[in-house]
Amino acid sequence: MDHFLYRDGVLHAEDVPLPEIAAQVGTPFYCYSVATLTRHFRLFQEALAGMDHLICYAVKANSNQAVLKLMGDLGAGVDVVSGGEYRRARAAGIPGERIVFSGVGKTREEMRLALEGGIRQFNVESEPEMAALNEVALGLGVVAPIAVRVNPDVDAQTHEKIATGKAENKFGIPIARARAVYAHAATLPGLRVVGIDVHIGSQLTALEPFEAAYAKVADLTRALRQDGHEIIRLDLGGGLGIPYERSNAAPPLPLEYGAMIRRVVGDLGCEIEIEPGRLIAGNAGILVAQAIYVKEGEGRNFLILDAAMNDLVRPAMYSAHHDIVPVIEPAPGAEQAPIDIVGPVCETGDTFAKSRMMPPVAPGDLVAFRSAGAYGAVMASEYNTRPLVPEVLVMGDHLAVIRDRPSFDEIINRDTIPEWL
Ligand SMILES: *Cc1c(COP(=O)(O)O)cnc(C)c1O
Repeated sequence: MDHFLYRDGVLHAEDVPLPEIAAQVGTPFYCYSVATLTRHFRLFQEALAGMDHLICYAVKANSNQAVLKLMGDLGAGVDVVSGGEYRRARAAGIPGERIVFSGVGKTREEMRLALEGGIRQFNVESEPEMAALNEVALGLGVVAPIAVRVNPDVDAQTHEKIATGKAENKFGIPIARARAVYAHAATLPGLRVVGIDVHIGSQLTALEPFEAAYAKVADLTRALRQDGHEIIRLDLGGGLGIPYERSNAAPPLPLEYGAMIRRVVGDLGCEIEIEPGRLIAGNAGILVAQAIYVKEGEGRNFLILDAAMNDLVRPAMYSAHHDIVPVIEPAPGAEQAPIDIVGPVCETGDTFAKSRMMPPVAPGDLVAFRSAGAYGAVMASEYNTRPLVPEVLVMGDHLAVIRDRPSFDEIINRDTIPEWL
């Protein structure tokens, strides 16, 4: 359930009518709901209740500092994948001891930043990275807490671009080599092994791939303990999917996910970390756009919006589906007709939906893309010199612009023309 509902025929974000926001900030804009973000976070809290745990919200899903501040206030830790995200999390008030640093290509500069600023653990993804982190830590006279990200070679059964747990993916070290890698880590005085990390992909709609991966992690935990390592923490990654199409079967609930975690790794006495991003932010946000034209083509019609692939790239990049609904509720029984929903960018890829059944939409009407709170604004660009889309946060009847639309002056003045040209 989210908090974007029709009231008196008008789509609201919590208690705020969307046309009111459109009048204030213009279109397109992203809008997030505090109640929904909070609810989703608490679902994970409840799912892991009774187990020693920390929910490390995956910053990359939606990194606006207002969202991070909310998560931090709710008690979340965060998972960051770059020095930039680390800085954002700190700026939003997340303490270093609640920040987990993931990613295959951490630079020494990023390692230094996190070691100096405070860090819960580095999820190390290769032996060269382990060696670099050891050197950086020794140079600073500190010890870096690490988990090694293992690649369990399981099929996450998700879109190929967001599957990360197969042997052919770039992530983690092959689980078969894990004992050797941990043995090596134990010889490096700048590192302290605290646990094991795994993350097999995003938008998973079944529990079986998670369970297969976690069972391998449980076996590895026992083996590593026999080898003399102290494994006190298991980071089980993120990846639980959300229902993008309301007509489809719903993915497993956090409660079912938590029950499986308890069953598979609950007896190991480890602190559990999970790194959900999409499930917390995805359905807590929408993208609101305005119709510019309705164009009649050869055998098909096009609804041309003022939002484009640069604002929401998921349909172009992952062939992703977003439900798109009129902000003014269609009359009951309003006739639906198929239409291609597109943006103004000069690429055929700038197509949000093909032959989508829609009630009548006229130029000037507002539409909302549902499930756009994760991997939406964070992946936006200024392609075609279209300003980055602004973000709005709603709580009850409170409304705040949490990132402004940049002016054209700001955008144009970012370039420098060399004087010798
Ligand atoms: C992307 C990512 C996540 C979050 O995945 P979701 O599908 O958004 O839950 C968590 N951990 C790591 C290491 C990631 O790369």
